[in-house]
Amino acid sequence: MKGAVLVVNSGSSSIKYQLVDPDSGDAVAVGLVERIGEPDGLITHHHRGVERERRGPITDHARGLRLAFGMFAEDGVDLATAGIAAVGHRVVHGGEVFYRPTLVTVEVLAEIRRLSALAPLHNPANAIGIESAMAALPDVPHVAVFDTAFFHTLPAPARTYALDRDVARRHNVRRYGFHGTSHQFVSARVAEFLGRDLGELNQIVLHLGNGASASAVAGGRAVDTSMGLTPLEGLVMGTRSGDIDPGIVMHLRRSAGLDVDQIDDLLNRRSGLKGLSGVNDFRELRRLIEAGDADAALAYDVYIHRLRRYIGAYHLSLGGADTITFTAGVGENAPDVRADALAGLTRLGIEIDADRNAVRSHEPRVVSTDDSAVTVLVVPTNEELAIARFAREFAA
Ligand code: ADP
Repeated sequence: MKGAVLVVNSGSSSIKYQLVDPDSGDAVAVGLVERIGEPDGLITHHHRGVERERRGPITDHARGLRLAFGMFAEDGVDLATAGIAAVGHRVVHGGEVFYRPTLVTVEVLAEIRRLSALAPLHNPANAIGIESAMAALPDVPHVAVFDTAFFHTLPAPARTYALDRDVARRHNVRRYGFHGTSHQFVSARVAEFLGRDLGELNQIVLHLGNGASASAVAGGRAVDTSMGLTPLEGLVMGTRSGDIDPGIVMHLRRSAGLDVDQIDDLLNRRSGLKGLSGVNDFRELRRLIEAGDADAALAYDVYIHRLRRYIGAYHLSLGGADTITFTAGVGENAPDVRADALAGLTRLGIEIDADRNAVRSHEPRVVSTDDSAVTVLVVPTNEELAIARFAREFAA
């Protein structure tokens, strides 16, 4: 246990945690505290292959964490004395302030809270998780790892919205990007896997999970990304619309009489694949398509159409990509998405190998043909491991 890092991802009503060995990448324990604030709270805790549950009310995040620590204690692990190297906290928005992992102090915590204006659904919950964990483990360094940090290097043309500059400046309106920990981890892993110098590679990374984002990475630095001020922009996602004409917001306000919270709910939770087909999970979408559901088929086509647009845009803005990498739940597990996203692009030097693409594996792999000028890969992401490594590095 010595040297392990506890990774905490605190959401509005849940806390995900993992105790990770940052060297081997092994997760010693993995758990989820759910339905915080509800009468039917639930903790699911896996430790060395054994799963246990605890049901009952969980009044708040602090109580949830204490109960989770109690599960560790039942496994014979006292987190306070186990010699863990650090606690790594996922924080969604670092604004313009935080562009690298940061040791949490009282001031840093206050700043994370202040940034809640930019991420009202995420930063307050992240801050509560940090505060609770610091109270429970006061003698261990706590490090905040920001989802936006990797995109700190976006060049001005890529990060700037064409808005009134005074309004934009006053309200910090710019493209920040999200899923940065994953894009950074995967792009570094691609270079390592191919035995190439990260500094020499032009990469497109497609993180396709429930949330989805694309990035262009030149020489290890992010130069473009599809998510913006918030994680709503860009690709079609499980429940989020991705790019829409901003005029739709005004239209819905005026014609449908929706208020801003209703539009927020519509675009974040009732759009994307779910809005188009009724389901947000890709496996269910596939079942509907196979059953002949026309709405599901259209949802899939819209998803692929948007994805191809971004791949095309980034291929061009990079002056030619060397690699295109698929990651996260859909990217790693849906060969049809990879094949359809890159179909018919031999002329652009992009050619998928059907047999390689059909292989199921948890390892990084190449799925393009040997003749393909652009190497297409599948590389499993591991945000928890990335956070654990950052936390250990920045804890000193
Ligand atoms: P997040 O972390 O954003 O919640 P994940 O990266 O876990 O999401 O991805 C979740 C998505 O991955 C879901 O849409 C799920 O259907 C999809 N997925 C998982 N396994 C498969 C699979 N075998 N085939 C197709 N899609 C899959």
